[in-house]
Amino acid sequence: MGLSTAAQLLNIDAEVYDHHRALGDSLLSLQCLRKLYDPEMLKPLIQDATAQEFYDKLLFKTVIICDLNHPLIRRSDLRFTCDSCGRRAHRTGDWQLKNKSYRAEFVCWHCHHRFYGRVQFKLKYEGMVVKKGILPVPSGKDQKEEQDPQEES
Ligand SMILES: [Zn+2]
Repeated sequence: MGLSTAAQLLNIDAEVYDHHRALGDSLLSLQCLRKLYDPEMLKPLIQDATAQEFYDKLLFKTVIICDLNHPLIRRSDLRFTCDSCGRRAHRTGDWQLKNKSYRAEFVCWHCHHRFYGRVQFKLKYEGMVVKKGILPVPSGKDQKEEQDPQEES
């Protein structure tokens, strides 16, 4: 939301301030804050800047993990269930790294549905965040792998 919109919603006349100038925008921001300020609401948002954790968190850079052997990756993160029947699917191809996420082809032995399982690992300060998704296999793709499913790793 822009400053002018915020002022408008708070019934503050923004016209009297010099728009997009440092002083005018600062004074208008102050007027908005005066209307919104509630010390009780701010309390839970205040963090302890004397604690080392505050700076650890501040300086932590989220990284996308591009190594399937990373110790925080669980084997279950690499398993997929069939999006047609809900049973466990079996991987039929190697994991491939594409656009910072891994994908591999899967087949469901129950309903023969084929799909790509896609998984991305983001290591955040709070821990590993796993994002999984299913992509359709383009029609006309070579089907020869179907009879020779590989053991899932
Ligand atoms: Zn299925």
